[in-house]
Amino acid sequence: MVIGKPLLTVEQIQKRVKELAQKISEDYEGKELLSVAILRGAFMFFSDIVKLIQVPMDIDFLIASSYIKTESSGEIRVYADLREDIKDKDVLLIEDIVDTGLTLSYIRDMLLARNPASLKICTFLDKKERRKTDVPLDYVGFEVPDEYVVGYGLDYENKFRNLPYIAVFKKST
Ligand code: 5GP
Repeated sequence: MVIGKPLLTVEQIQKRVKELAQKISEDYEGKELLSVAILRGAFMFFSDIVKLIQVPMDIDFLIASSYIKTESSGEIRVYADLREDIKDKDVLLIEDIVDTGLTLSYIRDMLLARNPASLKICTFLDKKERRKTDVPLDYVGFEVPDEYVVGYGLDYENKFRNLPYIAVFKKST
């Protein structure tokens, strides 16, 4: 297994997270947010960005997965649902990476059926060229090429989540 050099450095990440938080704070001024982390991948991005968003907020977590090793299984599993009732709330979903879009699209439909006042999506990474289904992204940290990336919360078989930067992962053959 080989981890390449950083695709996104700690400094680039910090700068972008700050910018996103500022935009979100402006957009939600005067409102109260319910920020939802999609775990496990979004844990690091989530904890960084919520510290910088300057509107009152509640937080909640949802655990979902579609990935087996480095491929999407296409089947989305929700392992743990929200604890909060989201009806009439302004919900911001915070995701690590959007690839085919299937995971987020499934979660979005599931949450929209609960009638939130609004539902927006903030993703740290966007692997646009792999998209199979359209899902509206309101805030995007970085677009990344079609490579399997790890670090800053993202894993390969649950490893490398603790790297503070994003790197391309290659299986050695
Ligand atoms: P999608 O349903 O959009 O295809 O996949 C979304 C999920 O797949 C992400 O939340 C993430 O867990 C996983 N995923 C997609 N691409 C990558 C990648 O390049 N690296 C890692 N570590 N996970 C990925």
